[in-house]
Amino acid sequence: MIERAYFDWNATAPLRVESRAAMADALGVTGNASSVHAEGRAARRLVEQAREQVASLAGAEAKNVTFTSGATEANMLALTPVIEIGGRKEPRDRLFVSAIEHASVRSGGRFSADAVEELPVTGEGVVGLGELERRIAGATRPLVSVMLANNETGVIQPISDIAAIAHAANGVLHVDAVQGPGRIDCRIGELGADLMSLSAHKLGGPQGAGALICRGDIQIGEPLIKGGGQERGQRAGTENVAAIAGFGAAAAAAANQADAARMAALRDRVEAGIKVLAPQAVIFGENAPRLPNTTLFAVPGMKAETAIISFDLNGIAASSGSACSSGKVQASHVLAAMGVEPALAQGAVRVSLGWATSERDIENLLDALTKVVSSLRKRPMNAGLAA
Ligand code: PMP
Repeated sequence: MIERAYFDWNATAPLRVESRAAMADALGVTGNASSVHAEGRAARRLVEQAREQVASLAGAEAKNVTFTSGATEANMLALTPVIEIGGRKEPRDRLFVSAIEHASVRSGGRFSADAVEELPVTGEGVVGLGELERRIAGATRPLVSVMLANNETGVIQPISDIAAIAHAANGVLHVDAVQGPGRIDCRIGELGADLMSLSAHKLGGPQGAGALICRGDIQIGEPLIKGGGQERGQRAGTENVAAIAGFGAAAAAAANQADAARMAALRDRVEAGIKVLAPQAVIFGENAPRLPNTTLFAVPGMKAETAIISFDLNGIAASSGSACSSGKVQASHVLAAMGVEPALAQGAVRVSLGWATSERDIENLLDALTKVVSSLRKRPMNAGLAA
């Protein structure tokens, strides 16, 4: 049997043992977290413990953590014109989102399409501060949404600078921090964000759980899901206790960046290997600050689909751009926003690693890449490829 090596951590991470154990325990608890009897209180305790754990990861107060079904829902909840500051609902008149956001943010959430403006990024995939400053001047009460780090390139955005610009313009800043935990600092206050989305399954928790975190006296003025008064009225519906407990345990395990330096060293080995095998390879966002675990690259002449299939046959799970857009033929909106030629963008392969990635996984990946690159050289149209 071919040994498998998983390199798609930005799509979803493996479940951490702590998370699996917490969920198994929680599944044995019968109560509804809103019930007043002992069983209900036991479920409530699990939810509140997880809230503390997620709050601690996010450097926030537990009362400001709202559990959702994932980051897609957290993003939709955050992107509303009705935000409450200090108990007062202040309608937001414009939403600024970067061109490299996740589809849930690019959708504009609950804003009407004509109130949404897209912010360009540089060739390295970094949101242009000057452009934000110029555009935001025309808004009265803007909401800005920029991700902490891009899921395709791993490029880290200058969030504190963006926060300063947004706040100077009477704005509120939402940050999709989904790709940050366990890799870089995700404390909301340190980032200068007002609202922040997290997803459990990207940090070693279960799929289908996430959170929106608010800072200080800011909260969402209009819930996305209405019904019972769960989650302080911010998100109705009986809590998914087991998933939330698993999220909390995973968040506690991800709260330090213990594996970041090791991941960066392994990722650097991958990139050095790519350059030796294919000196003409392009690594997107290479000169920008990036997450320690991500590389997005293309080798001219190499089709991403062919590479991914060949990788898979050789035991390697990698992806072409983001999981949400793979399967579709169109090139990544992130690379398009960075001004990458469509032909090159079509070849983009993402390798993302995590705390369990081993040296041997890296060797297997480079062996698989050697096969792909040498099969390219055999094709006459690519005869000019460097050896
Ligand atoms: N934002 C980013 C940056 C993501 O990478 C993802 C997952 N692809 C999401 C949001 C959506 O998260 P979820 O899967 O929890 O809905």
